[in-house]
Amino acid sequence: MALLTGALSPGLYIVATPIGNLGDLSPRAARILAGVALIAAEDTRVTAKLLAHIDAKVPMQPYHDHNADAVRPALIERMRGDAVALVSDAGTPLISDPGYKLVRDARAAGIEVITIPGPCAAVAALTLAGLPTDRFLFAGFLPAKAGAKAAAIDELGAVRATLVFYESGPRTSATLALLAERLGDRPAAVAREITKKFEETVDGTLLSLSARYAEAPPRGEVVIVVGPPGEAVAPSAADLDTALIAAMVSHPLSAAVAEVSATLGVARKTIYARALELKSR
Ligand code: SAM
Repeated sequence: MALLTGALSPGLYIVATPIGNLGDLSPRAARILAGVALIAAEDTRVTAKLLAHIDAKVPMQPYHDHNADAVRPALIERMRGDAVALVSDAGTPLISDPGYKLVRDARAAGIEVITIPGPCAAVAALTLAGLPTDRFLFAGFLPAKAGAKAAAIDELGAVRATLVFYESGPRTSATLALLAERLGDRPAAVAREITKKFEETVDGTLLSLSARYAEAPPRGEVVIVVGPPGEAVAPSAADLDTALIAAMVSHPLSAAVAEVSATLGVARKTIYARALELKSR
């Protein structure tokens, strides 16, 4: 095991780096980065700035989605005799960032894997949102394509946990609206630019937040946190039918389903199935 002083033993060092505020680089992380023989970095230009901040000069090897398979075997060989660090551009490697296959292969090769924990936007956002933290599900980035995105959200509908998503500013409003449509209008929070100058966390419901950001998308990096499905008493089958029939009179099927889902806080999938039953009568 690596000690805090002296030469580092060979192995793979997973080093978390700041998500905006350089002051969040831990003394241990700085010492490990300065002491390894090689740093595998998602973007060597980004990591060069971090190394300059701690006044360290260390050889780097790019390690990202496009070259990972090709360079991984040589990196694993290098770890047999040297200390090699893995960093991503920001935060904890492997969390919506490359790295898990490197850890998998290092473990399979009998190489020691050491983690230097630190900033992670998902955990930081959970501490800001004011939503339950006893159970949470990190969902990372939703798929970009509409069909796959809706399907991915539907899979999460019944999960009794707070949900955490990574998102970009421009897509935030549309994603919040889709989350409301598929999950019901749950309590939520949007945390942006965490640890940076324009850090801001806004809470509300999915629909109110979607409306807020429709005109002025949040700038910078964003985490969306969505509360678990409410403990509220589910509407009775009769109440659901009444609302659905009324909505179907004045709206096309999909719009009726979306409206009732948002109003009653029942998953869109459930309402849709009932709407089809009612329609086929
Ligand atoms: N590995 C990183 C971590 O531990 O958080 C996440 C990397 S992922 C490629 C980048 C996403 O993380 C951004 O799109 C955003 O959703 C989130 N993120 C990173 N830094 C952030 C910050 N300072 N404020 C808010 N969200 C951030």
